[in-house]
Amino acid sequence: MTSVLLFFIDGLGIGTRGPHNPLDGLSDAEPLAVFQDEAPQIPSAGVLVRTDARLGVDGRPQSASGQTTILTGVNAPAAIGHHKQGFPNQALLAIIREHSIFRQLQRAGVAPITFANTYTSRFFESRPRWISATTAAVEAADLRFNRVEDLSAGRAVYQDFTNAMLIERGEQVAPRTPEQAGEVLASIVANHRFTLYEYFITDKVGHGQNLERARVVLRDLALMIRGLLSRLDLDQTNVILTSDHGNIEDLSTRSHTLNPVPTIVWGVGRQKIADQVSSLADITPAIIHTLTSD
Ligand SMILES: [Zn+2]
Repeated sequence: MTSVLLFFIDGLGIGTRGPHNPLDGLSDAEPLAVFQDEAPQIPSAGVLVRTDARLGVDGRPQSASGQTTILTGVNAPAAIGHHKQGFPNQALLAIIREHSIFRQLQRAGVAPITFANTYTSRFFESRPRWISATTAAVEAADLRFNRVEDLSAGRAVYQDFTNAMLIERGEQVAPRTPEQAGEVLASIVANHRFTLYEYFITDKVGHGQNLERARVVLRDLALMIRGLLSRLDLDQTNVILTSDHGNIEDLSTRSHTLNPVPTIVWGVGRQKIADQVSSLADITPAIIHTLTSD
C-alpha cells in the first residue's frame, strides 16, 4: 500500500531570477530553486507542476483561503468571494469542518493518518482565539495533536524543525540539524498512510524582506527536504510539496506575489499525481485518489 506526505510550505512561489529573489545564486537550494521559464533541477526524480494559486479570484492569494483550498479540495476564495488573509473565518472554518482532508480520508477508511507538527502546552492551556487552517483540519477529524513529549520521543517535528524556537522558549528538547529533522519526518511518514507537515517561516521571512535571513531559511529547508527524501522508500511513498501563495521568492515587496507556486511530487505515483494537479484545489482530490485506488 502506498502512502503520502503532504509537505506544506507557506509563501513559496516560482519567481524570476534577480537580486529580489533569495533563491537566485543560492547553492544547495535544490529542490526549492525553481524559476520561471527555466527547466528545474529537482533531485530524486521529482516532478514539478507550476500551480495556480489565484484560483480565478481577483487580488493577491492569501493564507487562510489558500490553505483551506489545499486542505479540502474546495476552491475557498471562490466560495467566499475573496482571498482571506491569516486565519480562517467562520465561512472557511465551515468548509474545513466538512471537507478536511483528514475527514475525507477517515470516511474512505484510510488509516493511520497524522499531522506531524508539534503543539506546545501553551496551545492547550490557553487556546488561541484564531486557529490555523491546519489546526482546524486536524480538529475536524478529531485527530490527536502531537506535544513536545512526542517530539522528544522522535514522533513529531516542530514547525521550526531545528527546535531552536522551542529551546528559546525554555522547552527541554535537543536541537536537530535539518538532516536529523528530515530523518524524523521520514520515520513518521513510514508509520502512516497520510502525513501532513506544515512549515511557515518562509512566509514570515518573506514579509520581513531580509535577504540573508531568507537565504539561511531556504538553505536549511532544502537540506531538511533532501534529508527526508534520502530516508524515504520512494517505491512505497509519495511526497507532495506545495505552497499557498508566493512571497519569499520576491523580497522587493512585503506582499504576497501573484506567481504560481511549485507543487513538486516524488515517489512511485509522481507522474500520475502531477497529471491531476493544476491549481491548489486539485491537491486533496489527487491525494484521496492515490490513497483509495490501491
Ligand atoms: Zn500563506
